[in-house]
Order: sequence, then structure tokens, then C-alpha cells
Amino acid sequence: MHTIATFKLTATTLLSLAGPPSIAKKLNVVATTPDLAALAREIGGDFVDVTALAKPTEDPHFVDPKPSSLVILNRADVLIEGGAELELGWLPPLLDNARNDKIASGAKGRIVASQGIHMLEIPATFDRSKGDIHSLGNPHFMVDPLAAKIVAANIADHLAQVDPADAAAFKANLQTFSSAVDRKLVEWQKALEPHRGAKLVTYHKDFVYFAARFGLDIVAELEPKPGIAPSPAHLAQVISAMQSSKAKVILVQPYQNRKTAETVARQTNATVLDMPEQPGAIPNTNTYFQLMDHLVQTLAAGLEEKQ
Ligand SMILES: [Zn+2]
Repeated sequence: MHTIATFKLTATTLLSLAGPPSIAKKLNVVATTPDLAALAREIGGDFVDVTALAKPTEDPHFVDPKPSSLVILNRADVLIEGGAELELGWLPPLLDNARNDKIASGAKGRIVASQGIHMLEIPATFDRSKGDIHSLGNPHFMVDPLAAKIVAANIADHLAQVDPADAAAFKANLQTFSSAVDRKLVEWQKALEPHRGAKLVTYHKDFVYFAARFGLDIVAELEPKPGIAPSPAHLAQVISAMQSSKAKVILVQPYQNRKTAETVARQTNATVLDMPEQPGAIPNTNTYFQLMDHLVQTLAAGLEEKQ
């Protein structure tokens, strides 16, 4: 991993990277992760240029900082973060060095996606020394379509404050997005309805909101705690939980250890399903709707096959 100290911005690097001034003045919107970037594109439309700091195949908790991220943050008009300490391990040092008041905490150009979300799994007591990284509750809410609507409204509100001249367009785009979510949600619920109550295993606690929305039952995680690598003793417990609950699918994301999941699957006659939560991690999942279509279809097909 790089150290941020080596990336401190100088006036010279900024000038050399600035390039010619653009004619159409679009808002520079920076999102920490591609799912938030996808929503910013839906709401900002033609009035924004959107960049995500994390790659779709990167763990949003552990993003490798790049020198270019500092330049991107320095020029941002708006920053969208997941919040609830999702990016605690990598965003604060970048922001310290990016020197941009427009996206400072509390500024109208700073959007915290978790604001207004009904957070699940807020710990009663928390001890960071135990390694848990979900200190303020579970931050993986974007795969609940109703949570995505709340985030979209938050984005529209802030874009209108930063760029009042285009507020009507942001409002209209929000309306379009929200109506489309309502329509698609009916379709997604119908596709998963035959699997209501299905038992699932995940690698990380990253499908809690998805499971709650679609009536699914997560019986175990391969990680003993969020952010802690699976141990043999813990995996033995997972295998026994899968055998007694008859869970037949294990959901993994691209940055998680698929081999570990496969080992567990072999011993439980289960199937490993690739369920990326970030748009663009696999082909044809660039928009929020394409991503959710993929998640719903992959899970429905995987559960169908195991019946
Ligand atoms: Zn997490």
C-alpha cells in the first residue's frame, strides 16, 4: 500500500495536470465507490462529470490510494461518500492532503450517503481493537433499492445547492430514477418471491439489507467478524451451520477469497455465486438497474438449481 505522505500536492503538479479549460462547465462529482457514482450519473445527467475513486473490483473498506486520487479530490465540486465509516481506512488521509474546502465535512459539496438511511446492525458496544470494521452499523445498504432512492434524493438535494441553476433538472432526474426503482422493485420481488426464506451464506456482512428487503435468511458469514479473515475453526462452525440449515449457496464479491468459499462449498454440496455489489465489476452491470438485475437473476437461478 502507498503512503499518502508521498502524494502531497504541489502547485506545479496541479498546473501540469490541469490541461486546457473546458468550455461546458460541468460539476466535477467524485464518489468514493462505483455504486455511488452510478447514482450520481442518474441524478446529475449531462450537468456532471462523475469519477469513482475505488475500482469496482476493490473492497470499499480497503482502497489502495493513488496519487491521481488527490488531484481528483482537489478539483472536486462535490464528494459523495458512503459514510458510517465505510471509507475510514483510506479516505480521511486523502482528504487531509487534497486541500479542497468545497468538499469539507459539512459543506454543501459533501454528501454522506448513509444520512437518512435506517442503519442495520448498529453495535451496542464497540471495540475497534477487536478488528470489527462496522463500527457505526452495516454500511452496505446500496443493494436495498429503497435505500438507493434515499441516497439519490440526498444527491439531488446537494447538487441543487451547489448548482441552483440546474436544480429543476436534478429534481426531474430524481423523479425518473425513483419511479424506475419502484417499477423494477416489483419485478425483482416477483423474481425472488419463490425463494422467500431461502438460506444463504455470505463472505462478508454485505448482503444484510438485500436479504431484509427480499425476505432471505443469511445463516452465516465466512468472516468471523467484518474485516477479519476466515479461520479454520470459524469455517468448521460455518460448515456445521450450513448442514443443519440446508444452506446451499455462498455469495462472494470479486475481491473476496473465492477459494475459501469453494472449499466450504465442496464440503456442503453448495454453489458459490458471484454477486458483485459494485456496478462495472463484471460486464453489462454499469448502471444501478443492470447491477440489481444481475444480482436478482444470479441468485434466483442459483437457488432454483439447488432446489
Ligand atoms: Zn463491510
